[in-house]
Amino acid sequence: MSNENSKELQEKILMSPKKKIHFVSKEELDRADEFCEPYKDFLNKSRTEREAVAEAVAMAKENGFVEYNPDVRYNPGDRVYIVNRDKAVGLAVIGKFGASQGVMLSIAHIDSPRIDLKPNPLYEKNSMALLKTHYYGGIKKYQWTTIPLALHGRVCKADGTYVDIAIGDEDNDPCFCITDILPHLGQEQAKKTLGEAFTGEDLNCLIGSRPYADEEGEQVRLNTMKLIYDKYGFTENDFLSAELTLVPAFKARDVGFDRSMIGSYGHDDRVCAYPALMAIIDSGVPEKTCITYLADKEETGSDGNTGMQSDFLRYFIYDLAKSEGLEGYRVLSKSKCLSADVNAAVDPTYESCFEPKNSSYINEGVVISKYTGARGKSSTSDASAEYMGEIRRMLESNKIIWQVGELGRVDLGGGGTIAKYVANMNVDVVDLGVPVLSMHAPFEIVSKLDVYMAYQAFLHFFIG
Ligand code: MN
Ligand code: MN
Repeated sequence: MSNENSKELQEKILMSPKKKIHFVSKEELDRADEFCEPYKDFLNKSRTEREAVAEAVAMAKENGFVEYNPDVRYNPGDRVYIVNRDKAVGLAVIGKFGASQGVMLSIAHIDSPRIDLKPNPLYEKNSMALLKTHYYGGIKKYQWTTIPLALHGRVCKADGTYVDIAIGDEDNDPCFCITDILPHLGQEQAKKTLGEAFTGEDLNCLIGSRPYADEEGEQVRLNTMKLIYDKYGFTENDFLSAELTLVPAFKARDVGFDRSMIGSYGHDDRVCAYPALMAIIDSGVPEKTCITYLADKEETGSDGNTGMQSDFLRYFIYDLAKSEGLEGYRVLSKSKCLSADVNAAVDPTYESCFEPKNSSYINEGVVISKYTGARGKSSTSDASAEYMGEIRRMLESNKIIWQVGELGRVDLGGGGTIAKYVANMNVDVVDLGVPVLSMHAPFEIVSKLDVYMAYQAFLHFFIG
């Protein structure tokens, strides 16, 4: 038997079993609650990536950011923003050393799973007008039936003008709905597996039921299209050049008697985008140039010119470098990144999907995922021990509570983030984000403390 006191030894060399929220002061919890009030507004205003970009630009302008001009040589403290096709946005604050020692990147995505309309969506059946849809991102289809839906997006008309649509969110707005069969007649459906019981082609959205006239033909379709034409000035043909999407029509709300959580559509990944936005706004005059970049298309694999696989961010950094007489690739090679995305929080009802020691929990702070991927870490960028150490020191020296988390147990499923696309540019990167319950559901849940810790993490990453 050793003569060293076991309790002392335990404290010295073993992990503390104490829940991290107990290390957080009442004042800090109050600050977290306060930080989350405007976050709820941001969620309510940003139902699509386009709306999130518009909101981010409005916030940027209010805080002294001006539109980026590649021909200008900027000075330390200057604030610029750059928009990619109205669907992705970068905000940069020029550091004291400019880009000469690399840039500090916080990246998140602002698209969320949803129900997109097909290019030719409108039809009538049994005297009801409906829209054909094609879902976007990974969803459990049954969750999107029998809930109120709002319609958002942009329609480009034949004459070259466009109209933006947002209907269904306000109390007096009409909303839309994907119907489901009643349980009494659902016995055949109930025999199917969850994945088979609801097909993509079943996700048809009800949008009208009154006819235009007592005549032959699809009078409900005609009446519904007339109402759309009267309100927005576009015709059925204009659906062909539109991006319209159905999103849950309920607002962000506090959850729990203690109001410790927020339930909302779109936390993934606006719950990281918003803290990253606030961090760049609050970064003052940092040492190195700092960039928050909010990307589109993560939920479908980051392809396309507004996704993280596009060269848009790379070109932006190259332009910043060039204006300072630097080589873009040298700047990238010295750059560092927090890839900000959500992770799956342990759900007490589905505990078996998780490995308890390496999964994230709400109220335990930001979750760091050294790697993501599936089937033996396939398709991940695995952060180095050195970079993990650096980020860990940054968090701990600033008393930011954090945890590690894999996405569920090994070989159960898995997933990826945009980290690897930045890593491929020869940048040090690790995933850091907020744990979420019911991820990809119409109503996802996060803890306010974790949202605030994410903000603290991005802020201190930027300001050192
Ligand atoms: Mn995500
Ligand atoms: Mn996602």
